[in-house]
Amino acid sequence: MPIYKAPIRDISFASREVFDFGTIKALPGCSDMTDDLVDAVFQEAARFCENELFPLNQSGDQEGCQWKNGEVTTPKGFKNAYDKFVEGGWTSVSSDPKYGGQGLPDSLEFILEEMICSSNLSFSLYPGLTRGAYTAIHAHGAEDIKQKFLPKMIDGTWGGTMNLTEPQCGTDLGLLRTKAVPQKDGSYEITGNKIWISSGEHDLTENIIHLVLAKTPTAPEGVKGISLFVVPKFMVNDDGSLGDRNKLQCTSLEHKMGIHASPSCAMSFDGAKGWLVGKENAGLSYMFTMMNNERIGVGLQGLGISEVSYQNAVVYARERLQGRSLSGVKHPKKPADPIIVHPDIRRMLMTMKSYIEGCRMMGVWIGQEVDISQKHPEKEERQRADDFVQLMTPVVKAFFTDMAFENTNHALQIHGGYGYTQDFGVEQYVRDARITQIYEGTNGIQGLDLVGRKLGMHMGRLLRRFFHPVQEFIKEHEDNEDLAEFVGPLAKSFDRLQRAALTVAQKGMANPEEAGAASTDFLSLFGHTALAYLWTRAVIVSKPNENGSESLFYKGKIDTARFYMQKILPRTSTLFATIMAGKKTLMDIDEEAFGPFDFSGFSQEITRAS
Ligand SMILES: Cc1cc2nc3c(=O)[nH]c(=O)nc-3n(C[C@H](O)[C@H](O)[C@H](O)COP(=O)(O)OP(=O)(O)OC[C@H]3O[C@@H](n4cnc5c(N)ncnc54)[C@H](O)[C@@H]3O)c2cc1C
Repeated sequence: MPIYKAPIRDISFASREVFDFGTIKALPGCSDMTDDLVDAVFQEAARFCENELFPLNQSGDQEGCQWKNGEVTTPKGFKNAYDKFVEGGWTSVSSDPKYGGQGLPDSLEFILEEMICSSNLSFSLYPGLTRGAYTAIHAHGAEDIKQKFLPKMIDGTWGGTMNLTEPQCGTDLGLLRTKAVPQKDGSYEITGNKIWISSGEHDLTENIIHLVLAKTPTAPEGVKGISLFVVPKFMVNDDGSLGDRNKLQCTSLEHKMGIHASPSCAMSFDGAKGWLVGKENAGLSYMFTMMNNERIGVGLQGLGISEVSYQNAVVYARERLQGRSLSGVKHPKKPADPIIVHPDIRRMLMTMKSYIEGCRMMGVWIGQEVDISQKHPEKEERQRADDFVQLMTPVVKAFFTDMAFENTNHALQIHGGYGYTQDFGVEQYVRDARITQIYEGTNGIQGLDLVGRKLGMHMGRLLRRFFHPVQEFIKEHEDNEDLAEFVGPLAKSFDRLQRAALTVAQKGMANPEEAGAASTDFLSLFGHTALAYLWTRAVIVSKPNENGSESLFYKGKIDTARFYMQKILPRTSTLFATIMAGKKTLMDIDEEAFGPFDFSGFSQEITRAS
């Protein structure tokens, strides 16, 4: 049986020692956030995740969701757990008090999300999607729409979804075909087919509020002609009670690699009644409000699933007896030593530990900046923080989830054959982690967003929100001999990042394919450098406590930072080289040279989606 314990001590280290939770407490509306309150929230969330959500993770995976006549049944125990989740107030943590939310900071919500995703990634998607839909309606909906839908989405009575994808249209939303025809009463009739819609139909909530992208008859071609509609499963009467069933249904469920307890629905809208959110043809930018929030959320999914797979790998590595330590027998009374004595096992464990704890610090950082961007009294500060969030969102989404796939694979490898079989539950983590690299914009698209949009935006202003603090930090500490083994590698990696940014920006301007060719490697270089900065900060916090009552914890931090600098950060050297090599070797090769294969069967499949 897999295990999970919420990493409260490390969360506290990241949010209170490396970063200062006081920054958030000082924001308007956050003064109630006493340490005691935060502790109580963490403890209660940990209890709920460990005892209610985690026990349903494996059974939910094995049972999956069931479709029958348009209705979807969630796995045993999910409805009960969801009801308790609602009762505990977990659906409303950071939502607007005007509509019934608790108004707590997003940074706190992000931490809770990590725990929820560790304990049950499939479950996390139900409230996660509702929250995304809430965000878009809250930011762009008219007041009557907000009053009608938000309170019950916030209190968890109703769920939410996001309907973008169609068979012929994934990344390229300009290919969208769903139609929205205006009606005399101000509503629209929505007709079209959507696929892979998470939580499109289920039995957890009384109603499901779908956000749907569609085109009106007079809409311009491409992405400029997309509008956003709110389309409830059941009509909502003026007094808030539920009316008739809307003309939409889930026609089937997708059979997929992981997240089996989250239904991925084919949705058919057949003249369904919907209401415009905001203005016609501005839907894509509205959806981005939701997606940006969701992208950070998907990054946190990667962090959560990495953490649980790491914990299981450590427990297994301490217990599994195989071979003897290369430096001499460690446990002579046992038939063999535990595999944690082997350098290669430690390589994998340390890789996981250094990525996970590093990303946790980065998650706290972006969480705090999200709060500042929304709540700070000074416009300039809000702008600075918003720039930072925009810049780092693709990095958090792609870097955390690429790391998650690497980490879950290490966990599986540490379990050997027992990892590949279902005995210890780690193969599920690999399968579940894999989707995080794909949905909410594939990781390739995150790389393009970083180099193609964010890098040059406002003449590099966004980039400076990261570059300046790191540059100043290096300057401040470069002569400190005690920190040389950390600041030195950080400075080298940062120099690579700066040079790569300049080259990609210059070459990309002359030829966009140059930027495209560098994008994924550049994002990885960025993520690795950011972690080097954060690990150095962690060392500065840990050194004074190295010999105190928690010496194991703090010394562990310094050792992990050292490992990161010596064994992980050199990856930036390779990344720098591949970025500098440019597009030539990718784009010069003739398309035919990829292989003389017979594609006829495959292209028939693709034709169905075009
Ligand atoms: C389990 C699951 C749940 C999902 N949930 C939802 C949901 O709730 N709502 C929803 O609307 N959608 C959902 N999706 C859809 C998901 O968001 C898309 O799968 C994703 O955006 C990618 O689109 P695609 O699969 O059509 O891939 P494609 O767009 O066909 O891309 C194929 C490959 O080409 C690359 N590519 C495409 N365009 C470019 C380009 N311009 N430059 C470089 N590379 C490019 C991609 O990175 C990818 O590697 C879900 C999907 C799955 C599998």
